[in-house]
Amino acid sequence: MKLAQSVQYLKGVGPAAAKLFARLNIQTVRDILFHLPSGYIDRTFIKPIEDCELGEDATVAGEIIKVQKKSIRPTFAKAIVRGKTGEVEAVWFNQPYIADSLSKGFQVILSGKVDFYKRLQMKNPEFEIVEGDLFAETENIVSKSQRILAKYPLTEGLRQNVVRNAVNQALADCADELRDVVPKHVLKKRNLMKISDAMKTLHAPTAMSELLPARERLVYEEFFLMQIGLSLRKRRLKQTRGWAFKVDDGLQKRILARYPFKLTGAQDKSIAEIVGDMTSELPMNRLIQGDVGSGKTAVALYAMLVAIANRAQVALMAPTEILAEQHYLTMQSLLEGSRVRVELLVGGMNASERKDLLADVGRGDVQMLIGTHALIQGGVQFKRLGLIVVDEQHKFGVLQRTKLLNKGFNPDALVMTATPIPRTLSLTVYGDLDVSVIDEMPPGRMPVKTSVVPESKRHEAYDFIRKKVQAGQQVYVICPLVDESEELDLKSATETAQRMREEIFPDLRVDLIHGRLKVGEKDEVMKRFRNGEIDVLVATVVIEVGVDIPNATTMVIEHAERFGLAQLHQLRGRIGRGREQSYCLLFAEPTTEDAQRRLSIMAKTSDGFMIAEEDLAIRGPGEFFGTKQHGLPELRVANIIEDFKILQQARSDAFELVAADVNLAMPEHSLLRTFVNDFLAEKMDLIRIG
Ligand code: ADP
Ligand code: MG
Repeated sequence: MKLAQSVQYLKGVGPAAAKLFARLNIQTVRDILFHLPSGYIDRTFIKPIEDCELGEDATVAGEIIKVQKKSIRPTFAKAIVRGKTGEVEAVWFNQPYIADSLSKGFQVILSGKVDFYKRLQMKNPEFEIVEGDLFAETENIVSKSQRILAKYPLTEGLRQNVVRNAVNQALADCADELRDVVPKHVLKKRNLMKISDAMKTLHAPTAMSELLPARERLVYEEFFLMQIGLSLRKRRLKQTRGWAFKVDDGLQKRILARYPFKLTGAQDKSIAEIVGDMTSELPMNRLIQGDVGSGKTAVALYAMLVAIANRAQVALMAPTEILAEQHYLTMQSLLEGSRVRVELLVGGMNASERKDLLADVGRGDVQMLIGTHALIQGGVQFKRLGLIVVDEQHKFGVLQRTKLLNKGFNPDALVMTATPIPRTLSLTVYGDLDVSVIDEMPPGRMPVKTSVVPESKRHEAYDFIRKKVQAGQQVYVICPLVDESEELDLKSATETAQRMREEIFPDLRVDLIHGRLKVGEKDEVMKRFRNGEIDVLVATVVIEVGVDIPNATTMVIEHAERFGLAQLHQLRGRIGRGREQSYCLLFAEPTTEDAQRRLSIMAKTSDGFMIAEEDLAIRGPGEFFGTKQHGLPELRVANIIEDFKILQQARSDAFELVAADVNLAMPEHSLLRTFVNDFLAEKMDLIRIG
């Protein structure tokens, strides 16, 4: 038997079972070994039936005194088991055939939840028929290796015993074939066991206390390999030569003169870090992290002007058309009167416009190209792309970033994100980037006042809105997410707009913007809102990121309970951008505890980092950041929050190793190199190591 062989080579696994295994992503014997238990049945202690309490998980033993089988629906098998001090009824629903393997007089061990239905009962318990005298020493009842029984994640139709049996064969035949990808010197340093031993322990522990170190061994491995990948990615960049831009005082002065405001200390600091990167000939690979409204765009503009002054072209990619258009408008107005040509490339352009624009870009006549992911499509070619800026990075994956990078010759890269990333995550998701943090808001900003508005106060809220409009300010009304269906989102937004226009605010100028509008139409609506020609703008979440209209001071979010925390925070970031006090009204009738918690956090704080930590806690890391689309290996066992300490160790070990042996050429790293080439390279977009 070999690790790479199909599970069908295992006894008891026929084509039907193999199909079921495939549903769990298990194809090979190796996969079966990495299919780890989701829990264990501890049969170390056999409890007297009399002492069992309702609701507890227990293991009991006794003699079968009656067996019953019902083959007509609803089917079941039943057995009454008498122990030394009491009786319990075991019922297996929908598995009448179990009765065939039981007989009066058999001695059995049952494990499961203790229940009561007319009598003491266990529903669908794990059972085992044992030989010998049950009531002698427990030692004799359950053979030592089976005192703790692994429970595996299943899929419909696949039975626990089939998995157990397959795992046991794989363990017996192949566990020792598993070789340690993590080099020996690292294992030794961290006092970690061999992977084969960890596997044996996790599948067949002899004591619950053995599980922890075995699990940690796997957690370590997952983190270590991910960090090796990140480290290689970072290293590779540091090995290549890119652009060394020239920056002198004259240039700095000319750039600063473009800003209608004084940069904040945090902006200055980030800019200094960026200039440091850009003047070096190593490619810049930097993340700017700053809460919504902290002024990241201004920082990015600085970087772009440095590149342009050095005769390079720059590309700015944003996740939505509205945002791309807004950046385009901002840049155009900031660059008014200069010779820099700024252009916009989005999906909905007509063919001949697009063709002309791309020709100009290819000739190097366009210095700044702003767009959506239309930028990474095939036809787009630059003459001298020296810098890419990716806004709101968490909407893009690593592969998209790379695609844009590949449009130039080792251009510098600046990534901006408004999602404050808890430190735990920044070591993984952005583990290969240098980070600048803008942790200061432009002066004069007042925190947005946020309140949760129950249905009964709706009309008061409308009066409040009218007052704001009468004072010359503008209002967003964000419509709910309806089951992720764009169709329904649109319907609810349209209805809301109509109601506002006809019933609630007939005296105000109400308009609507949503994702189905054509690019030009959206542009038109946003332009009118920006120019103050619309008082109340009803919107689906299309305005989620980046929109910057300081005169909009009030935001209503309908059905706020349906939005996630990060999204609420992003939405609220659209207001509080001017001199007037801003207000966020969360219309909500929260029904779940999580929703309640989200809303009260929103009302309590506007600190993005705090909100991110809470969000991470509520949703868990998988949901929070969807590592899959970030070009990172999937974590099966490790949890970046709970296992943060191991993550730090693995990261420091991995980076140290790569620093010492970039090509993984040392003999003790040869297995690791094979692993990187065979598994990591594609997933993490690494260059294969020769
Ligand atoms: P972010 O992209 O970080 O959400 P923006 O770059 O869109 O933030 O900036 C938000 C608003 O703050 C814009 O209107 C911008 O003109 C303004 N702004 C940025 N930096 C400053 C500053 N140093 N002083 C005053 N206003 C600023
Ligand atoms: Mg922004």
